Amino acid sequence: MPVNVEAYQQLKKELDQKEAVLVAVSKTKTAEEILELYKLGHRDFGENYVQELAAKQKLLPDDIRWHFIGHLQRNKVKQIAPFIQLVQSVDSLNLILEINKQGEKCKRVIPCLLQVHIAREETKFGLDEQELAEILHQCSALQLKNVQVNGLMGMASLTGDMQTVRNEFKYLHRLFLAYQTSNIKLETLSMGMSSDYPVALEEGSNMVRIGTILFGSRN
Ligand SMILES: *Cc1c(COP(=O)(O)O)cnc(C)c1O
Repeated sequence: MPVNVEAYQQLKKELDQKEAVLVAVSKTKTAEEILELYKLGHRDFGENYVQELAAKQKLLPDDIRWHFIGHLQRNKVKQIAPFIQLVQSVDSLNLILEINKQGEKCKRVIPCLLQVHIAREETKFGLDEQELAEILHQCSALQLKNVQVNGLMGMASLTGDMQTVRNEFKYLHRLFLAYQTSNIKLETLSMGMSSDYPVALEEGSNMVRIGTILFGSRN
């Protein structure tokens, strides 16, 4: 399916005005579809599966900024460590330690976001408020050299009830602001997908992850 160029340009304009970063979520989409957006100047792409990402990364231009947004297993970190731009879905200290280790091996500082569980659904991954506090505390205590936590990510409930969605985004934004004062510098707040990004932007998001609007629905 071809990329919706018009939707991309409109979205890009809207996000530029709001100084929010657009991550084009290209999971299940082909290298050709990604290249279509690339040729329009787009560079930030998000993927959920390590194998799929590693395969696409080999095929596509080196200046693409790849974001990992799915559940990341520790034993797969080494496959993406050499090139990943931002791991958005960090949900345990063990995972951070592994990212740090692999970052050291490839002489990189790997930027990460901590994923917070804000939805009602139990199935979604992420930290609760207490775990978040604990991880941030550990990170500043350990002074890890090859990993840099610089923000938070969250997914709202899958519901048409926009007030619920808004409240979940508000909650994450509040946590984000609460840690502005700590010695860990949180700069990125990644929230909002195709169905809820306008609400996310209103509630303080500065990075959205959008697939369906750009690429059409997935099989
Ligand atoms: C698939 C996915 C998205 C994009 O979803 P759309 O509804 O297609 O915009 C965003 N974030 C995460 C974590 C995803 O898995």
